[in-house]
Amino acid sequence: MKRVYNFSAGPSMLPLPVLEKAQKEFISYGDSGMSVTEMSHRSKVYEEIIARAESDLRSLMPVPENYKVLFLQGGASMQFAQIPLNLLSAYKTGKADYINSGNFANLAIQEAKRFGDIKVVASSKDDGYSHIPDWNDADFRPDADYVYICLNNTIYGTRFTTLPKTGKVPLVADASSCILSEPIDVSQFGILYAGAQKNVAPAGVTIVLIREDLLGRALDITPKMLDYQTMATSASMYNTPPCFPIYMAGLTFEWLLQTGGLKARKKINEEKAAILYGYLDESRLFKNPVLPRDRSIMNVTFVTGSAELDDAFCKEAEKAGFVNIKGHRSVGGMRASIYNAMPAEGIAELVEFMKAFELAHA
Ligand SMILES: *Cc1c(COP(=O)(O)O)cnc(C)c1O
Repeated sequence: MKRVYNFSAGPSMLPLPVLEKAQKEFISYGDSGMSVTEMSHRSKVYEEIIARAESDLRSLMPVPENYKVLFLQGGASMQFAQIPLNLLSAYKTGKADYINSGNFANLAIQEAKRFGDIKVVASSKDDGYSHIPDWNDADFRPDADYVYICLNNTIYGTRFTTLPKTGKVPLVADASSCILSEPIDVSQFGILYAGAQKNVAPAGVTIVLIREDLLGRALDITPKMLDYQTMATSASMYNTPPCFPIYMAGLTFEWLLQTGGLKARKKINEEKAAILYGYLDESRLFKNPVLPRDRSIMNVTFVTGSAELDDAFCKEAEKAGFVNIKGHRSVGGMRASIYNAMPAEGIAELVEFMKAFELAHA
């Protein structure tokens, strides 16, 4: 069976060398005589797998020493609750400031409102999230417990290119759809987190990087499982961790290290995105609806302006081996998610296909 170019926003393509290594090791990992899916998470062999994943991630990003690396469950969406539960100084009256740049930021806001006094400092909701909203740093409350942003907006194809200046107030960021796509200065954040299934591993693990001074301040109502301190103290092994996704994440970290690290990856990703945006800017049929300043290099959205034509395009693309290119159900149109695993050829071939479609339909 030929592999297709899979433009899914998540779960999404994984690097072929990662899949091949996992396949090779699937029945028996090393000389253990068993699959990673069958191992005790307390065994020496698994302890080595998780420790190696952590140390590779630390050198890859890099993660500063005063940050814990946690491998958690519940997806990125669990963080929408876990963050306020852990960082708000008081139930209901603790303060946090949010920027509403997309659907996932909005969901995080709604969840946080159940626990604290939440201020939305800027929002692009009324513009259909077609850009990152302009904010004024002076609007952040100096007594807020944290400021929250979503770095890359998966559904709308926008991203932050500069960060809010929050002074002593910790900045918390959802990096689910851009983690490991380029270097990122972790020290700018109190918490940086990402669900794995966009750019790292199969669904099931969420990576949380947390500055150590933010541990141990969870609200009293916080379930033990959701207290970051519990997981930090136990090195993500308070209970059974998502063993297999962590192993797969480890393979991705290793692949990224072997292929030049995140600086090299940034260059490749910028070149890949430029192929698609370059064509979209000259196309007379397809348009990218995003403010150019804020264009994501991971999720590229485009429309023809006609719902029927969008639909026809998605169907024909699917037949030609460009799959999962339909936009999110809430916005329609098309979206090509071009994470690390999508090769440049996949994008170049997609552009050729789009050009032929344009000729036939313009
Ligand atoms: C996919 C995604 C989420 C939701 O992730 P789940 O793991 O399904 O909870 C949250 N934030 C961003 C930016 C995403 O791309």
